[in-house]
Amino acid sequence: AAKRGHLGVTMYNPEADDHSFERLSVLGELRRAIETGELELHYQPKVRTHTRELCGVEALVRWRHPTRGLLGPDKFIPVAEQSDLMLPLTEAVLAAALAQHRAWLNDGLRLPVAVNVGAACLLDPGFPDRVALLLREYAVTAGQLTVEITESAMVTDAARAAATLSALRELGVRLSIDDFGTGYSSMGYLQTMPLDELKIDRQFTAKLRSGPSGRAIVGAIVELAHALSLDVVVEGVEDEETLTTVAGLHCEIAQGYHVCRPLPADALAEWATKYRV
Ligand code: C2E
Ligand code: CA
Ligand code: CA
Ligand code: CA
Repeated sequence: AAKRGHLGVTMYNPEADDHSFERLSVLGELRRAIETGELELHYQPKVRTHTRELCGVEALVRWRHPTRGLLGPDKFIPVAEQSDLMLPLTEAVLAAALAQHRAWLNDGLRLPVAVNVGAACLLDPGFPDRVALLLREYAVTAGQLTVEITESAMVTDAARAAATLSALRELGVRLSIDDFGTGYSSMGYLQTMPLDELKIDRQFTAKLRSGPSGRAIVGAIVELAHALSLDVVVEGVEDEETLTTVAGLHCEIAQGYHVCRPLPADALAEWATKYRV
């Protein structure tokens, strides 16, 4: 029989996703979590590969569940995406990230911040206005905010997504295409979307160590990105050798466990203060 009132197996077993009873209880808890502030952000640094200089952070959501502990996004974002919760969740994340950026700025730490935004927001014509309101509320310059989008976010209604992206770009928000190379029609999106940055998915980063073909692929993506005047971020850099390799391939920004794991805001600020290039 289905269990009620607590997080069901849905959270831990993706195969149970159709058990609507359990999914509903997760969604009920998540709805409450968004309102009560149980969601928190961890921040992962982005550094310049040549100078090692810290140039920004990506905000990554976690759920501090009262009984289950700290849950990663993979445990609840896919469930939320099947509901109407992605708009309130993303707005809560944006507000928290901008508030944090503002707090750091007041402490003399300038850290441009990136937030992940999915299909629901890109298909909502009201989204850019709410981003503009939040930027004003926290007195953050639009250029300090990067919105990371995946190709899958664009497949439902590419025209509408493009309109939202254009409106965000109009505000001065930076746009980044995330997990590049894992979706489909990547090339088409590069031409039609007003992008500033391309993030090479970590599955390509992992292949850099396995021989020349990995380097050929990453090198080609970097060249393509530069031909389109996009900044390139390589994800999932887990060792020094990879960091050196991607620097040699002219990829200017790196992110990954080798530089720093995602950290709570206070720990990140402490890391940033002690960090020496
Ligand atoms: P992503 O946007 O591709 O984020 C990068 C993920 O890779 C993060 O996982 C990060 O912790 C992990 N990572 C970073 N460096 C390394 C590394 O060197 N090696 C390995 N193996 N992994 C690394 P996380 O935090 O579990 O997030 C997973 C995904 O959840 C994100 O992938 C993103 O798609 C989604 N997500 C996270 N926060 C949000 C959010 O606020 N809103 C939305 N819509 N999605 C989010
Ligand atoms: Ca991302
Ligand atoms: Ca990514
Ligand atoms: Ca990813």
